[in-house]
Amino acid sequence: MKKYNFNAGPSILPREVIENTAKQILDFNGSGLSLAEISHRAKDFQPVVDEAVALIKELLKVPEGYSVLFLGGGASLEFCMIPYNFLIKKAGYLNTGTWAKKALKEAKLFGEAVEVASSADAGYTFYPKDYECPTDLDYLHITTNNTIYGTEIRKEPEVPVRLIGDMSSDIFSRPIDVAKYDCIYAGAQKNLAMAGVTLIIVKDDCLGKAPRQIPTMLDYRTHVEKGSMFNTPPVVPIYCALETLRWIKAQGGVEEMARRAEARAKVLYDEIDRNKLFRGTVEKDSRSLMNICFVMNDEYKDLEKPFFEYATQRGMVGIKGHRSVGGFRASCYNAMPMEGVEALVKCMQDFEKEH
Ligand code: PLP
Repeated sequence: MKKYNFNAGPSILPREVIENTAKQILDFNGSGLSLAEISHRAKDFQPVVDEAVALIKELLKVPEGYSVLFLGGGASLEFCMIPYNFLIKKAGYLNTGTWAKKALKEAKLFGEAVEVASSADAGYTFYPKDYECPTDLDYLHITTNNTIYGTEIRKEPEVPVRLIGDMSSDIFSRPIDVAKYDCIYAGAQKNLAMAGVTLIIVKDDCLGKAPRQIPTMLDYRTHVEKGSMFNTPPVVPIYCALETLRWIKAQGGVEEMARRAEARAKVLYDEIDRNKLFRGTVEKDSRSLMNICFVMNDEYKDLEKPFFEYATQRGMVGIKGHRSVGGFRASCYNAMPMEGVEALVKCMQDFEKEH
């Protein structure tokens, strides 16, 4: 039976990305050594990093003056590296979910960090839009896609300050205006690669302004100066990222990724809105195209477990909602084919007919 991977992350990658990475793990560039065995300083590896950086700049139209880095530590390490490197007097955070809250918590260790807007009181069911953004912030931190709650901001907010974006779960799913950001970061394990590497896009002339000593490994300047090679980088995930970037380019770039994401999400949200058994969990204009969250309608609550089992038997993998939301979450990252979404919709329709 064909399986469709709706996991929230680590999650689906294009099959050819997995196959090409596996080939290089067995024999890197015909060297007779595995990609997992070579030094990051091997002469064949530098071109991997260079091509990946060049593709990121091309796909996201990164303007001059920005560096692209591959670091370890996951997006969670960036929660502390951001204020370490950028918080001078006061930082602002949009509290839009679990990850945003964690980022704010770390910033408070370094100085004044304020919650500029929050949807916590409403159970994070919308992405705040109407708020007053103070003008004296060093930066406003936003989580562009809230992986757990299924809300997303698909365009940079109009605010009078510089942005920092956690794009872990929607990077490369649409064009972005990089020039509005001092820093963008994303754990790789959704739209980019296997887990183990974090992508950072940082504006060079914003670095070195924070009034504190920064440990070498946590200072972005270290990694800018050494081209992500200050210490041993995660070689295999970086190679995997390169394969994904080649794939995105060959498919038509982030514009095409956006078109596909919109098409997939429309099919699934239309069914959620039509089917008597289900309802979406977030306000319509905040709906994420990447993580589509829905629950059973109250009168059908008892059918939650049976539907989960029914869908699992039909090849749907990873649709259980996060424990803080319940119900279901179908993550539809770039590599999810429309066929996968149609198979899930068919499950929902057939299950409805039986009840
Ligand atoms: N930010 C967002 C939006 C996420 O979805 C996640 C993980 O799912 C993280 C941060 C944390 O990423 P990591 O596990 O790489 O630290």
